[in-house]
Amino acid sequence: MSDQDGKKTLGLSGGARNGRVNQSFSRGRTKSVVVETKRKRVVVPKPGSSGGGAGGEAVKRPSGVSDAEMERRLKALQAAKSREAEEAENRAREEREREEERERRRAEIEAKEREEREREEALKAKEEDDQRRLAEEEARRTAEKAAVDAPAPAKSADPQRAPVNKPGTPTPRRDKDRDDKGGRGKAPERDGRRTGKLTVNQALAGRDGGRQRSMAAMKRKQERARQKAMGGQVEREKIVRDVQVPDSIIVSELANRMAERVADVVKALMNMGMMVTQNQPVDQDTAELIVEEFGHNMVRVSDSDVEQVIDSVEDKPEDLVSRPPVITIMGHVDHGKTSLLDAIRNAKVVAGEAGGITQHIGAYQVTTDKGAVLSFLDTPGHAAFTSMRARGAQVTDIVVLVVAADDAVMPQTVEAINHAKAAGVPMIVAINKIDRPAADPNKVRTDLLQHEVVVEGMSGDVQDVEVSAITGQGLDDLLDAIALQAEILELKANPDRSASGAVIEAQLDVGRGPVATVLVQNGTLKQGDIFVVGEQWGKVRALVDDKGERVKEAGPSVPVEVLGLNGTPEAGDVLNVV
Ligand code: GDP
Repeated sequence: MSDQDGKKTLGLSGGARNGRVNQSFSRGRTKSVVVETKRKRVVVPKPGSSGGGAGGEAVKRPSGVSDAEMERRLKALQAAKSREAEEAENRAREEREREEERERRRAEIEAKEREEREREEALKAKEEDDQRRLAEEEARRTAEKAAVDAPAPAKSADPQRAPVNKPGTPTPRRDKDRDDKGGRGKAPERDGRRTGKLTVNQALAGRDGGRQRSMAAMKRKQERARQKAMGGQVEREKIVRDVQVPDSIIVSELANRMAERVADVVKALMNMGMMVTQNQPVDQDTAELIVEEFGHNMVRVSDSDVEQVIDSVEDKPEDLVSRPPVITIMGHVDHGKTSLLDAIRNAKVVAGEAGGITQHIGAYQVTTDKGAVLSFLDTPGHAAFTSMRARGAQVTDIVVLVVAADDAVMPQTVEAINHAKAAGVPMIVAINKIDRPAADPNKVRTDLLQHEVVVEGMSGDVQDVEVSAITGQGLDDLLDAIALQAEILELKANPDRSASGAVIEAQLDVGRGPVATVLVQNGTLKQGDIFVVGEQWGKVRALVDDKGERVKEAGPSVPVEVLGLNGTPEAGDVLNVV
């Protein structure tokens, strides 16, 4: 039973579910618990004996609550009340304190702001004062000294010194301010003058809002003041410059090249009705107007000038030596272009290299039995030829037109003829598959007549050779014919100059990076050369020839693989060593 009572006291499971009451624990700790407010009203105002209170209370008192219990509860209620009052008082006090603190801070900030304002005003006043004094002094000096030059050297020290201690005392004031000295201690900041040592704080405080005018601006100001004092504007002598302007130029860069202020240039542009910022580009014509407005001379330059510089080197005739011809094999599909290229390579390269492995690098060189060196482009097909020509790389000296003897002149044969004619490249007709039983070389010759290709067999000037890529028949005759044609062409180049060439093939090699097969057309390409090729550039790290061997250099008409590019160029790109 008593156990149950205790539980009720702690848990207040009786009617007082919604009010507040205090629970007491050991060591004075208490805990306030919700109690029904109605009950508080009922209990507290009750005057007189506890019995009456108990009597009045008896109606509402839950059954099973003893008098003693009731007493305890009342006491607890009263205690809670008094604590509440105490807490309210505490809160009020804290609130007051906080308010005071806020007030104090606000006052501080205001004081600081006021100080700052005063300092700024003082500075401004001082600056004006300075200028006035400067002008006065200048005027005085000019008056004193009749000599024209005298004021200039005397003043020249000021513009340099003054900006350094701008927030402090500019030099010219020193003498005049001596009488103020007494007042300095009292109000050091009033006139913005520094007293005693310059500390970091003072230095920082002296700056107007953290931003100081530049030394140049200060110099300009003093210069203006000086000129004013001298009476009449002495215009600084204008330096007329030659301003190089490319196709498009950033406004600030244009100002830079004219040695004018960017703001002035932007202003001039705006006067012309062009709203641009200093970081925007203007075209050459606009730039010209601006350059003229500022009285400079305009020099137009364009990107293509760079390439013209590279191209413009002319070789002297005595420097030229003969070079091997470069041959492209063209013809209709399946007429045997690839077979012929392979046959020539196998016959001449592998046989001579004693087991050497030929490497496909897009071109190879062979030496005929008579000692003539020929460079074959190992990229059959018209696309390669035309794409190279389209890119300005006229690589081929001689076209070998392959026509199958058992077939006839086909569309791509005609196309090849037209390409060769358009490029002005001489042709040699190779009548292939002569070993075939159905071969009829004379039919090919007569067919070619229709396309204005008159072979020697038809008393024309185009050499024709009957060959078989399979049996190797007539291959040497073909090579001799090519060598003869090359002699007629008198191909020459100057090996003693920086190389230029054309890219035949290029790819990104997994192990070696970008690799380009370049056919050197003039000069000698050496290891270590720095070059531009198409949109890429590089430094020759290594040269590999068509036999897969490392070489130190490559002369005219020699195909080499070039390593050391920064990116992959495209076939037909022109390489120039710079
Ligand atoms: P491409 O398309 O012009 O490169 O022609 P290919 O070189 O691929 O040759 C096409 C086919 O003709 C291949 O099957 C070759 O074996 C064959 N061929 C090429 N040349 C000769 C030749 O001289 N004689 C014979 N009998 N077949 C040849």
